[in-house]
Amino acid sequence: MKINILSVFPEMFAPVTEHSLLGKACDNGILDINVLNIRDFSEDKHLKTDDSPFGGGPGMVMTPQPIFSALRSLGMEADKKRGRILYMSPRGKLLNRELIGELATCGELTILCGHYEGVDQRVISHWGMEEVSIGDYILTGGELPAMVLVDSVSRFIPGVLGNEASAEDESIYTGLLEADMYTRPGIFEGLSVPEVLTEGNHKKTSLWQLMRSIEITYERRPELFMKWWKDSPKMDFLTKKERKEVKEFVEKLLLRQLR
Ligand code: SAM
Repeated sequence: MKINILSVFPEMFAPVTEHSLLGKACDNGILDINVLNIRDFSEDKHLKTDDSPFGGGPGMVMTPQPIFSALRSLGMEADKKRGRILYMSPRGKLLNRELIGELATCGELTILCGHYEGVDQRVISHWGMEEVSIGDYILTGGELPAMVLVDSVSRFIPGVLGNEASAEDESIYTGLLEADMYTRPGIFEGLSVPEVLTEGNHKKTSLWQLMRSIEITYERRPELFMKWWKDSPKMDFLTKKERKEVKEFVEKLLLRQLR
């Protein structure tokens, strides 16, 4: 997958593109991340990329010229685009599993990182950019949001994780929050691991993990829990008796809510 990133702080991306799984994916050619410095395209004699807003108000706005030129340097025009062009923005559509899945299949992504008060609207409108937000809070620039997007999308590109199954088998994506995790040693400073996890009985472990997932989701994200339960989860990996046990467990939680 090819990812073009337009930024006034291109050096911010090195920690993400040079390390860990994304670093490996870049080295292996699974990901081709091309970071463009918007300032390099400025025709201003001081290489300015921002100016004060029409209509007044505090802060600066990113000017159209360097961004138009940077996009054209990629061989694109507004009516000759490749893949999808995104602008990271708190006004945008919230990044979620559905959008991440769509973006992971699009082949080429171009991401504009805003700064200061944002970007001249003509950039967004002329290039038909999709505005994407990573949450209801404000960051100083679009670089961190772009990294969040690139990281979350990359997990769904074949070869990035090494273990394809694990991209989906995570909190939220399964419909529930994940159960508690433990590793060796079995006892650390007198603190022990739940016994069921050390017995080596996979069936019992799966049932325990599901119950704990349900409990945590119910306590921390009741809206997520209700959606999962209303969607009538199949729980195919459990026996009829175990499914009955889970149902009774859920009914007990729901009764607790009514009291
Ligand atoms: N004045 C803008 C507004 O009120 O909508 C906020 C500008 S913000 C200080 C600067 C830049 O950070 C934005 O242009 C955007 O690229 C990025 N940004 C900030 N918060 C973001 C979020 N929650 N999601 C995505 N991008 C964000």
